[in-house]
This record gives sequence, structure tokens and C-alpha cells, in this order.
Amino acid sequence: MKKTILTLLLALPAVVSYAQPAIPRDAKLEAKIEKTLKKMTLDEKIGQMLELNLDIMGSYDANRQWQLNETMLDTLISNHKVGSILNAPGTRAATVEQWQYWIRLIQEKSMKHIGIPTIYGLDHNHGVTYTQGGTLFPQPINIAASFNTELARTGAEITAYESRAANCPWVYNPVVDLGRDPRWPRIWESFGEDAIVNSRMVEAQIKGYQGDDPNHLGKYNVGTSTKHYFAYGAPWTGKDRTPVYLSPQLLREKYFEPFRAAAMAGTLTMMVNSGSVNGVPLHASYEYLTKWLKEDLQWDGMLVTDWADINNLFQRERVAKDKKDAIRIAINAGIDMSMDPYSVDFCILLKELVQEGKVPMSRIDDAVRRILRVKYRLNLFDQPNTGGKGYEKFGCSEFAEKSLRAAEESEVLLKNDGNILPLAKTTKILLTGPNANQMRCLHGGWSYTWQGSRAEDLAEKYNTIYEALCQKFGADNVILEQGVTYKESGAWYEENPPQIARAVSAAASADVIIAAIGENSYTETPGNLNDLWLSDNQRTLVKELAKTGKPVILVLNEGRPRLLADIEPLAKAVVDILIPGNYGGDALANLLAGDSNFSAKMPYTYPRDPSSLYNYDYKVSEEVGTMAGAYNYDAKVSLQWPFGYGLSYTTFEYSNLRVDKSRFSSDDVLNVTVDVKNTGSREGKEAVLLYSSDLVASVVPDNKRLRCFSKVSLQAGETKTVTFTLPAKSLAFVGADGRWTLEEGDFLLKAGKLTVPVYCTRTTVWDTPNI
Ligand code: BGC
Repeated sequence: MKKTILTLLLALPAVVSYAQPAIPRDAKLEAKIEKTLKKMTLDEKIGQMLELNLDIMGSYDANRQWQLNETMLDTLISNHKVGSILNAPGTRAATVEQWQYWIRLIQEKSMKHIGIPTIYGLDHNHGVTYTQGGTLFPQPINIAASFNTELARTGAEITAYESRAANCPWVYNPVVDLGRDPRWPRIWESFGEDAIVNSRMVEAQIKGYQGDDPNHLGKYNVGTSTKHYFAYGAPWTGKDRTPVYLSPQLLREKYFEPFRAAAMAGTLTMMVNSGSVNGVPLHASYEYLTKWLKEDLQWDGMLVTDWADINNLFQRERVAKDKKDAIRIAINAGIDMSMDPYSVDFCILLKELVQEGKVPMSRIDDAVRRILRVKYRLNLFDQPNTGGKGYEKFGCSEFAEKSLRAAEESEVLLKNDGNILPLAKTTKILLTGPNANQMRCLHGGWSYTWQGSRAEDLAEKYNTIYEALCQKFGADNVILEQGVTYKESGAWYEENPPQIARAVSAAASADVIIAAIGENSYTETPGNLNDLWLSDNQRTLVKELAKTGKPVILVLNEGRPRLLADIEPLAKAVVDILIPGNYGGDALANLLAGDSNFSAKMPYTYPRDPSSLYNYDYKVSEEVGTMAGAYNYDAKVSLQWPFGYGLSYTTFEYSNLRVDKSRFSSDDVLNVTVDVKNTGSREGKEAVLLYSSDLVASVVPDNKRLRCFSKVSLQAGETKTVTFTLPAKSLAFVGADGRWTLEEGDFLLKAGKLTVPVYCTRTTVWDTPNI
């Protein structure tokens, strides 16, 4: 009998099972949490679980200045023991002094009435969005395009410093919703379509924001709220906050991965996806909130809802009959804190639910422990306020310089026929297009205001593309005739009646035409669109200008890839600057003039046709060549520019791709190296991307998958050897039975145009959800 079992076991694939490591807890800190928890009444515990919007604690005075009403604040905190407050009044940036005053007052009241500090949160998303005079960086999609994790870390460090200068200890960032659908209005808020890019960037950002010890944050660190957990970015309709349908494989293998990375890197909190996945709103999902995150990963952080999302369980998603029912579902699913911006009835209803036995006291205690843990980890009990002395670098030129360099590393050169770029500084330029002279397009949404609108006055000191080109090429050499302009009030996509003829006649005295086209700023549902094509007016402008015979350079300034297949052939050069932030115009001028070199690559696949929306890691059977015989079942992948594509003013040659093991099994680590040579005549940086392909698998394999990346800087003629350490188990996929699987068989590793074959000698299947 024994023998039979043994033979059977040998014939089966190896099954591996081990627990995930959690962030080690600090025993002293845990003891403090328990002590505090023990002293708290039910009302105090429930109050900690509520987050209110600052707006409701004040009003606008005769000068239209928002004023905090101290009595109202006092009443809310003393009556409801509110644990957290968020947002900027009217979603418009305030000054450091205002933040200092408001948050200090809130902390005083909190300590007086509850003895527990508040945790104040702001959407400081790509810099200090809601603090005037601070530093804004390129949006995350640009940082992704740089393929340089150092930039992610540095940006986060500076944002943490400047947030703390404004007395804000908590930011609603990083964002790692995979941007795999070009229609979705928020793809620019994260690091593009790939799980590995998002994972490495989120790890770097968490270190930057929180420092190296998630148990003890310093006075220049802020707590993170990695969002929006998870699978938010793939709405079936393309419209924000509408349902997502994804296979279990995609969910586990790709969409969950960056959140797993964030949890393991110690993100203190996460914000939950507003929408639903496969019919289940995330805010109602015990499986995803409690099982996947808190149990499987042993993640001990805190889960906050997105904006009013418990209300959405009954108002929009209709999985609850009323607010009380919605609170019951969400809290039992694993929500710890409700961002219920405008009302305190959460406290009343949750208390009833506890008293009725519908929400167990153990769940309340668990939630409050998690909230207290964040506050202790942030050291808010001992130091509820920061800022003032020791924060003199707020908005300094050193930070500005870092933002400029990041912008330069993030603008992608997509076409450069006949090396038309760089342009001589004496070139006479016609600058045209709606993005030519407006800061709003450069800094995008979540900049001074929610939508990035109403913010021109706060960004006055920065250079638009026009201003930056004038400085670089001389004001006499730059003619501005926009031809198409955006309407300043109204929806982001609205344009004024075009004046194309004026631009065309201005082209007569120019050597080149630079058309700065794309989108105005937006985020979330207001950024929804019905047509992925770049606007008719803008495409007509380019077509008419091309007829002049003057060379056309397209500068794309947009949050998502807008279709332009009919105008791309008319251009000699194309630069996609994405949303490069306040120094994006200066960075562009430096790059166009050749004072800096391009080194960015596309962080997402740029589609060519409206019905051909691919990601780079499409399934092999999504691309089928022409078949022989009576019927042809071909399917062609049609792209404008692939993921990972980007040019430079220099050239790079890859050679000698090698791996230290040509045969491996799951416990091995593959060391992969490739030599990269700068074969051009000037210094440049190259993002080296290592892909793998599983040639045959029991689940249709992906065409290819990015596994590692690294950015290297090379002098002209210099060669560097780039080494990647690739744990073999990272080549596993999620099988049809939902288990991680690494199958025996052939794989290819790829870098540049080189490939090297490797062979997996043994199938391994894991019985743990995370490997
Ligand atoms: C957004 C979040 C944001 C929150 C708080 C929501 O509308 O989806 O990304 O953090 O508001 O401002």
C-alpha cells in the first residue's frame, strides 16, 4: 500500500507549499496598540473607522476664501470621534501655512477629545497636488516610460518631504492599476500596462514615501495608500467605475501582482477599487479584501474605501438595499475605514449593526487595530504635527531640477525620419496645436485641482511648451499660431471653433512645424470618452499643415494613446511627451534641441485602429497568420507603436545574451546577462528589457512577458554588461485550476533582438495562492 502511494507521488508534479512572509511586526508598538484599544469605547472605535471630507467643516467667506469653522470641527470630533479627514477645500491647492493651521487644529481637537491623533490624507499623487508652491513631477505614466525606478523613488521622497512640510502624513498614492485599456481615463495615473513595471515602481515609491522601515516612519516620510485595490483599470465599457470582467488567471497573474508587491514592501494602507469585478463590487468582496490580502499575504495594513463607496454599494451597484446593509456588507468583507465624505451616519448605523450582532465586535477590533497601527507606525501619537523648521527645502530649486531631469527621461521619441531632430537653435519654428501654450495639459489631472483645471494661475511661473521653445530657440524664431484651442470652461475635450487657415498661412515663414496635440487635463469619470481618435479638428490641422510641404513634428501630450494613424505618416518626427509635469515644456525644448538625449520607451501599447486594442503580452492565438485552404482564419495584430518602443539620438547594439543555466527547475535562479554597446556618437541611456516566452503550455501562453528591466547609461562607444537575476519560479503561470504552475518544456529569453533558449526540466505546481 505504502509503495503504491509513493509511486503515485513520484509520477505527479512537485507540489510546493509555504507561507508568505509578512512584514515583521514591532512588539512594543503592538503592545501600545492593544493598550489603546482596551481603553476605547464602542463609539470611539467606530469613530476611528470614519473619514470625513474637510469641506464639511467650514465655508467660504465674503472674499470666497474657505475658512475652517472651529466650532463645527469641535462638535464633529467630540461627538463622533472621527479618526480621519481628507481632501483640500473645493479640491483646490492650499498654502503650506493653511495646511499647517488646519491640520494642527484638527490634531489638537483629536488629542483633546479622543486622545488619538487624526490621520489626514491628501491626493499628493505626482507631487504635492494640493499644496501651492510645491514640486510636481511627471505623472506616473511618464515615470514608467523612463523605466528608471530611481526616479520613482526620488519623486516619492520629495513628495513625502513636502507633504510633511504641509503637516500631511498620508498620501493616496502609489497607483498601480494596470493601464491595459486605452479608453480608460486613468491609465496615466499608474505605470502602464505591465505588471512587472508597476511592481518594481511601486516598491521604489513605497521606499521613497515611507523610508526603509514600515514600522517606524520618520518625520520626512508619509504613509502610502496603494490604490485602487484591485483590477480597477479594465472596465468592460472603457468608462471609469463600470464593471470589469477578467479571468481568474489574469486577476491573479497580472492585476494582483503590483498590489502583492506593495503589500510585501509594507504599504501602510490600500484604497479599494470603486467598481466591481466579475459581478462582485470590491467593497463587498470578502474573498479579495480579507482572503487574498489580509490572510494569504498576512498583510496587517489598513483598507480604506474610495470616495463614498459604501454608499455606492446600494446607490450604484445595488448589492445592498440601503446604507445600513451596505455598511454591514463592506465592514464584514474587510473594509477598515469608510471614506464617507459628507455624513456621520456611518457611525450611527455601524453601532446599530454591532448591537444587533450583524457585525462582530472582533471585526471592529481588527479594523481599529489596523487603523491604530498606521497611526503608531507614523509616530503620530508622539509627533502629531510636522513642518516649519527643518522643512526649508519645500519647493526648492534642487527638487525642481529633479523634476526636470525626470521629465527629460520620460518623453518618448517615436519617429525621427532623416534625423530631422535635433533641431538647430536657429531653426524657425511654427508652433501650433491646442497643447502649445497651456500648463494644464502639461501637468494633467490631480494638479492643484482634481481635474487639473482652474489652476493656470497657480502654475504661472512654469513654462508652457511655447515659453520653453522661445527660451531655447529665441522668441524671434518661434511663431505661435495654435489653429485649434481648448475651451477653458466646460468638458476637457471641448474645443473652440478652429482657425486652421491662420496656422497654415503662418507656416510660410517657418522651417519646421511643431504640432503640440493631444488632450486637455482630466481624471476619473469626467475623463470618459466615446471616440479614441484624436479630435477631428486636431487631425485636420495637421493634414492642412502637411500640405504646405514644411516638415511636421508631432508632439503628443495626452493621458492615453489617442488614435492618429491618418496623420502619423504626414510627420517626419513624433515625440510622445505623455503628461510630463511642470517642467515638461523645458524638458521638451532641451530634447528637441539635442541638449539632452531621449531615453524613454512606451509604457503601453499604442493602438493603430479602433477595433484592434492589444497589450504587448497578448495570447499567442490572438495573432494568427494567413491560413492555407478554403477558409482563412487570420488575425493580425495592428499597432501604431509597441510597448517598450522608443528611439534615442544614439544607437545601441545588444550582443552575447547568455544564461548561466540552460536547464532549470523551480528552485533555481537564472542569471541572465547581455552586453549593451552605445554604437552612436553621443552619450545615452538605454532601458534594457528582458522578456520570456513559454513556448508550449497547458493554458494558451502569452506571446511574451517582461520579467526584468534595467536602465544603463553609456558613453559613446562604451559597452556594459547588464545582469538580471531571474528566479525560475517567476516564469510560472496560473493554470486552468487556478494554481501557480511551472511546466516542463522550452522557454525563450529575449533582450533586444536576441534570444536564448532554456529548458524547464520538471513541472511544479504550487498549492499556495502566492509564490
Ligand atoms: C478617487 C481616488 C482618490 C479619492 C480621494 C476618488 O474619487 O478615485 O483616487 O484618492 O477620490 O480624493
